[in-house]
Amino acid sequence: MSEKRKNVKLSKTSIVSPSRTVNIQTAHCPKGCDLMTDKVKIHNLNSICVKGDWGNQEGLVYLDPEFGSYEHVSEIDVPDGGIVKFSCPHCGTSLVSETETCHSCSSPVFTLILPKEGEVSACIRKGCFEHTLKIESFETMQIQFDNDFIKIIM
Ligand SMILES: [Zn+2]
Ligand SMILES: [Zn+2]
Repeated sequence: MSEKRKNVKLSKTSIVSPSRTVNIQTAHCPKGCDLMTDKVKIHNLNSICVKGDWGNQEGLVYLDPEFGSYEHVSEIDVPDGGIVKFSCPHCGTSLVSETETCHSCSSPVFTLILPKEGEVSACIRKGCFEHTLKIESFETMQIQFDNDFIKIIM
C-alpha cells in the first residue's frame, strides 16, 4: 500500500484545495541551512529567506511559504521579466539548478529542499509563476490529478 514515487512533476500550478492549502514550514538550502525566518511574516506565516542578486543589486527576498501564492517581500526592486539569482543567505550556496529550466519560459529554476517531503522548484524570472513540486514521500501528502488542477491533501 505504501506507494512511493519520485519526481512527480506538476507543471500546472492551479491548486484546488477545499479546506486547506499547502504551506511550506521547513525549507533548507542544499547544504542544510534552515531558510525559514520569523522576521518577515507572510499570511501570518514564517517566510522563506533567500538572498537575491539582480544586476548590481542584492538583498534579501522573503518568499511566500504558501505554495501557489506569490506575495513575496523583496528588498530589491526587480521589474517583471528580470532574472533573479537566488542563493542561501547563510552559506552562499547557489539555489539555482544547473540542470533544470522552467517549462514556461526556459529560465533557470531555483530549488528549495523540503526535508522528508521532497523539494520545490520555481522559476527565477519575476512574473513567471511556474512551480514544480517534487514529492518524495506520499505518506505525508497525497496528490490527485484532476485535468489541469491539482489537489493536494495533507
Ligand atoms: Zn546554506
Ligand atoms: Zn518561467
